[in-house]
Amino acid sequence: MPTPDLFSLQGRRALVTGGSRGIGLTIARGLAAHGARVILNGRSSDTLDAARAALRADGFEADAVAFDVTDQSAVSDAVSRIEREQGPIDILVNNAGLQRRAPLEDFTRADWDTLLSTNISAVFFAAQAVARHMLGRGRGKIINICSVQSELARPNIAPYTATKGAVRNLTRGMATDWAKHGLQINGLAPGYFETEMNDALVRDAAFTDWLCKRTPAARWGRVEELVGAAVFLASDASSFVNGHMLTVDGGISISL
Ligand code: NDP
Repeated sequence: MPTPDLFSLQGRRALVTGGSRGIGLTIARGLAAHGARVILNGRSSDTLDAARAALRADGFEADAVAFDVTDQSAVSDAVSRIEREQGPIDILVNNAGLQRRAPLEDFTRADWDTLLSTNISAVFFAAQAVARHMLGRGRGKIINICSVQSELARPNIAPYTATKGAVRNLTRGMATDWAKHGLQINGLAPGYFETEMNDALVRDAAFTDWLCKRTPAARWGRVEELVGAAVFLASDASSFVNGHMLTVDGGISISL
C-alpha cells in the first residue's frame, strides 16, 4: 500500500493574511507548492497583483482579496464571500502584522493602538470569522504567526512583545475552545528574518553582529526556512498537534 503523503495539501484552500510580501508571501508559496490553492490578503490590490504575478512566475495560480485585517466587518465579509464564491477555507494563516520601535516612555497612543489592532485584535477577527465556517464542517487549521519576542524582552519594542505574548495565549485559548470540534490551532514563532519589517536592523551592522553572536546558528533566518514548519502545521502531518507554538529561530530563544 502506498504511504500517504502526510504533507500534501492537495485540494485544500488557504487564506494567508499579510500575504503580499515577506513571510506571508513565502508561506503562501510553500503551501501552494504542496498543493494548496492560496488566497493572498493585504491592503492594496496593486501590491497583491504583484504578489500573484510573482507566484504565477513560479508556476502557482493564486487568488487575492484586499481588506484591512483590523476592520472586523471587512474581514467577516471577505471570509463569507470566499466561502460562498470559491469554497471552504481549510487553512487560515494569521500572518499580517507590524512592528513599531520607540523607547517605552515615548511610545505614542496612535502606535500603541495600531499595534494592538493589527497584531492581536485582527488575529481574533480572522480566526473567529473562519472558525464559524470550520466549526460546521468539523475540521480546519489555523496558524497564528507569533514571534520569539512573545517570550524575550528587547529594548524599545515592549508593546510589540505584549501583542505577540497575547497571540501566544490566544492560540492556546482557541485550541482549548475549538479542538473538540475538530479544529487545530497552532502558532509559529519566527526568530529574526530578513524582511521589509526588519529593513533597518538588517542594514545595521552592529545589530547583525549582536544577532550572530547571540544566535546558535550565527545568522539571520531566510524566510524560506519557515515553510517546512508552516506546511507541517497546515497538513495532516500535525493531526494531533493543538495549541502548540513551533519556534523557528536558529536557537536564539534557548541561548543565554
Ligand atoms: P512585512 O512587513 O514584510 O509584511 C507584513 C505583511 O502584513 C504585509 O503583507 C502587509 O501587507 C500586511 N499587513 C500589515 N498590516 C495589515 C493590515 N492592517 N491588513 C492587512 N494586511 C496587513 O513583515 P514580515 O513578513 O516580516 O512579518 C509577517 C509576520 O511575521 C508579522 O506578524 C510579524 O510580526 C511576524 N514576525 C516577523 C519576524 C521577522 O523577523 N520578520 C519575526 C517574528 C515574527 P500590505 O502592507 O500590503 O497591506
